[in-house]
Amino acid sequence: MTRTVADPGPAARAAIESVPTGLFIGGKWRETDARLTVADPATGEALCTVSDATAEDGLDALAAAAQAQSEWAATPPRARSEILVRAHRALLDDAERLALVATSEMGKPLAEARGEIAYAAEFFRWFAEEAVRLDGGYMPAPAGGSRFLVTRQPVGPSLLITPWNFPMAMATRKIGPALAAGCTCVVKPAEQTPLCTLALAEILRTAGVPDGVVNVVTTSDPGAVTGPMIADPRSRKLSFTGSTAVGKLLLEQCATTVMRTSMELGGNAPLIVFDDADLDTAVEGALAAKMRNIGQACTAANRIYVQRGIAAEFTRRFTERMAALPMGPGTTDGVVVGPLIDEAAVAKVTDLVADARRRGATVRLGGEVSDGPGNFYPATVLTGVPEDAAMFATEIFGPVAGIAEFDTEEEVVARANNTPYGLVSYLFTENLRRGLRVAEALDTGMVGLNQGVVSNPAAPFGGVKESGLGREGGLTGIDEFLEAKYIGVAL
Ligand code: NAP
Repeated sequence: MTRTVADPGPAARAAIESVPTGLFIGGKWRETDARLTVADPATGEALCTVSDATAEDGLDALAAAAQAQSEWAATPPRARSEILVRAHRALLDDAERLALVATSEMGKPLAEARGEIAYAAEFFRWFAEEAVRLDGGYMPAPAGGSRFLVTRQPVGPSLLITPWNFPMAMATRKIGPALAAGCTCVVKPAEQTPLCTLALAEILRTAGVPDGVVNVVTTSDPGAVTGPMIADPRSRKLSFTGSTAVGKLLLEQCATTVMRTSMELGGNAPLIVFDDADLDTAVEGALAAKMRNIGQACTAANRIYVQRGIAAEFTRRFTERMAALPMGPGTTDGVVVGPLIDEAAVAKVTDLVADARRRGATVRLGGEVSDGPGNFYPATVLTGVPEDAAMFATEIFGPVAGIAEFDTEEEVVARANNTPYGLVSYLFTENLRRGLRVAEALDTGMVGLNQGVVSNPAAPFGGVKESGLGREGGLTGIDEFLEAKYIGVAL
């Protein structure tokens, strides 16, 4: 595997320097003395520092959101929609700079970062269209004598907590529906990737978002900043994307004020290849499902099950494709395997590979950390991964594919469902009946049938079991930020 080492270059440096580094509260940028360092995962070098919020800053942001709430809720849906339309256009017009920011702070290859900006922008377009379609109901009471009037109102000031792996798209996936529904918000991005959200705040300000409607706090002490906000009755909603462990902690906190929650949590996606699959489709689908974002996606194929009859051929072709993926800094043209987010991620992947080996798996490709700076781990393929290997029970979050063989449909469905997670699964078969039968039997919120990527702003994204509560995107995405209000009308 060849690996290039390159300076991020003047364009990336200029992109970083263009991003505001303060907290965004009440429509104003506020610098703090305390600083949070943002590092480049490709080199480990500091890129810049941003403001490091305290609990008081967080409560100031919540106060700004609470103050702006009633006016924003009363802003005509068409006006809210038009702001989102302008923000959608601004993101696309600025895509190159924003992609450089995303790659610099998160590490993903530039081509993927460009894709993320387009994906992120699409949430604004989608929810701009949804903002003007908030319907209600009018019906006679079953016993007669009165009428039921049902209207939908914004839930209120919302706390939006996002992870580092899709730093722009996870923010727009929450801000889009919140604004469309008439909710103000405080966004708390991941501390490793605050820059995309800060750049986004400035774009939203320029697009005409009124003061206080969107606020951003960046912090190195997330619990200390979000805890008081969650406990404060002015917060009416928490929308969280991140790990299941932190999601559970936040759910407990939200119980004290019975706060509405949406939870997009971790996954452990099975990817099933039946012996009647089109092998080219299955190999390319598996590659996409495994390697998107260098394997650092909640939707990443975490367990690859291949039916015994085609296992050798699938493995040969898949390994050949994995071996051809160039590794290096995300800013280098053609790179697919960028760095992982931090040293801990490399150590975790290293441990998972060692554990699988100890339990009898065979390394077909990669499996050794290369020398040099940055958090790199090579594309790796293991076969014969036993069901009790740690990598089949936890999110790998790296470019490591673990393959196991199976014999029957019934057996593989049972193995696929044998996990507390239920975000997404993938299956490859040319038999439509089998495809639909298995898709229905898989205990996940989403299924990719003959495709390795399911994310789409127009589709309901989300999981079952410990992978989450609620859906983002699609026709129901805006419901997460709305309350139905019933008015009983006596006639
Ligand atoms: P994480 O550690 O759970 O962090 C997610 C966010 O929560 C970050 O902003 C983090 O801030 C914050 N946080 C951490 N501890 C907190 C606390 N005690 N109180 C309040 N906030 C806290 O997850 P991650 O490592 O950033 O992201 C990877 C995880 O996200 C994976 O499990 C992945 O599957 C999941 N994910 C799920 C989806 C989905 O749609 N289902 C999408 C993307 C990612 P700091 O950065 O400061 O720690």
